[in-house]
Amino acid sequence: MIDTQTLPDNVLTTQLKKLVNWSRRSSLWPMPFATACCGIELMATAASRYDIARFGAEAMRFSPRQSDLMIVAGRVTIKMMPVLQHIYQQMTEPKWVISMGACASTGGVFDAYATIQGIDQFMPVDVYIPGCPPRPEQLIEGIMAIQRIVDVHGLPAGKRRPLQIAIEPSYHPAPQPQPVGVTVGGKAI
Ligand code: SF4
Repeated sequence: MIDTQTLPDNVLTTQLKKLVNWSRRSSLWPMPFATACCGIELMATAASRYDIARFGAEAMRFSPRQSDLMIVAGRVTIKMMPVLQHIYQQMTEPKWVISMGACASTGGVFDAYATIQGIDQFMPVDVYIPGCPPRPEQLIEGIMAIQRIVDVHGLPAGKRRPLQIAIEPSYHPAPQPQPVGVTVGGKAI
């Protein structure tokens, strides 16, 4: 036990874990996966007016091995999901995921068979940001939420679903209110 009262003023005592997590939270490197309009808000957040450099998260990298924060901004289709999972796997641990906007989190207005109705059915998500689109302030709040997670939990351990296990989608299309068909001369074809 160190008696901090006896140390000179220019000595700071801390735990290694806190120092490492402080470094991590202060230098998040986002991996943007922007597929639609939410991506524009993501770009705006990085631009001068909102400037996520203030939170140490401006170094967007399109090479997964250098990134630790995936931001999924926009709708994801069934064909895109294996690519998204692949990129997520290529990112080094520890890593975190933000689901930005209604489309990434729930499918949004795209209530269609080809659109994933929430990316968390196929990969772990740490923070959800509501909105269509979310404003840059909301994305900043999401990044700050990730920073709080890093502060409190450190490594994201023990709460992640393993990848490659596709969970059955919980979404089932509603029946059509009217039968869909084509009639010619009063006869269905
Ligand atoms: S949530 Fe809205 S703004 Fe974002 S990708 Fe979907 S439709 Fe576009």
